Amino acid sequence: MFPGLFEQLRVRDEKGLRRKRLILSGPQEAHVTVAGRKYLAFCSNDYLGLANHPELIQSACDGAHQYGVGASASHLINGHTAAHHELEQALASFTGFPNALLFSTGYMANIGILTALLGRQDAVFADKLNHASLNDAALLCGAKFFRYPHLDLIKLEQRLAASHARRKLVVTDAVFSMDGDIAPVSRLIALCKKYQAMLLLDDAHGFGVLGKQGKGVLFSSDAGNLHAPNIIYMATLGKSAGVSGAFVAAQANVIETFIQYARSYIYTTAAPALLSHALRKSLTLIEQESWRRDKLQQNIASLKKGLKSLRWQLLPSQTPIQPLIVEENNKAIWLSDALRKRGILVPAIRPPTVPPGLARLRISLSTSHSSTDIDRLATTLWELSQYS
Ligand SMILES: *Cc1c(COP(=O)(O)O)cnc(C)c1O
Repeated sequence: MFPGLFEQLRVRDEKGLRRKRLILSGPQEAHVTVAGRKYLAFCSNDYLGLANHPELIQSACDGAHQYGVGASASHLINGHTAAHHELEQALASFTGFPNALLFSTGYMANIGILTALLGRQDAVFADKLNHASLNDAALLCGAKFFRYPHLDLIKLEQRLAASHARRKLVVTDAVFSMDGDIAPVSRLIALCKKYQAMLLLDDAHGFGVLGKQGKGVLFSSDAGNLHAPNIIYMATLGKSAGVSGAFVAAQANVIETFIQYARSYIYTTAAPALLSHALRKSLTLIEQESWRRDKLQQNIASLKKGLKSLRWQLLPSQTPIQPLIVEENNKAIWLSDALRKRGILVPAIRPPTVPPGLARLRISLSTSHSSTDIDRLATTLWELSQYS
């Protein structure tokens, strides 16, 4: 066996950090089946309840009949179909950018964006709580890498002012995946303008949920839309959109740079056209069915109400990511296990994913949760709070 592999795995066990996968035997919904048992689940990123929508399933089947199952080539050879192309155009016009480009996953999009744009003479400025894919991308591109404390724009400005890099790119989650809070986008845009930096917004958790018609974080301000030419907007299509993949939207020369230089775009087989076909339908539902966002907001409000004055506190999040802070690692694990025994799945999140002393349950809400589901979670948490 490879040297040290056994040791490496044992460390995970010793620290109680060995991860295990649940095996679902059906679709992603509010109620999922694991090992023959039904659970009420608050784990997925299917915020709008589209992952198992009958019209999307039909649309995926239609796409398969029209385009087959596999794209069988990369986009630059001959894997780029009308379904991909039309989805890109629809995404660009939906988000208000001149051009958009599809990637197979959000992880690959972030790797592609940073490695295509930046090299050793350049610098990346990143929020400490950014998604791992942005950090990996920053390391891979070879640029100088500065991480500023979460939302600390004073530190960010100091770093920007001191930098002599050729290109400067500020990168941030738009909605932070473990805290549910929203980046101060308009202030970031202004700061980037002042220091001739570009701003990469990763709106994986905001697209479909925030803003008018679910157009995302750039449309979530009362002051109107926040568009600026120095923005590179990235969002994923496997969360609210309920399917798979990701896209980047920006000015035409930026998108053309990705087509020419993003290796995670160039050297990989195009995602199946049937997914793009289904995503066109998904985009229509996101745009037109605003009742999904209304219901989601109702669910967020009733969870907050239901957990008010519980001994553990929710972070002040307005998004479907609702973290319940329980502080100690063991307490978080105990609570997650106790919920599971009662038929409810909520993941416990511990350091190093979150800072020490801030272990939490990460409750994610969906349009597909009923008010009975929310009540059941709240009641069960109240019961458990009596025990510990
Ligand atoms: C999920 C996520 C990604 C990765 O997207 P995938 O399509 O799942 O690879 C990137 N950034 C953020 C902030 C995410 O939450």
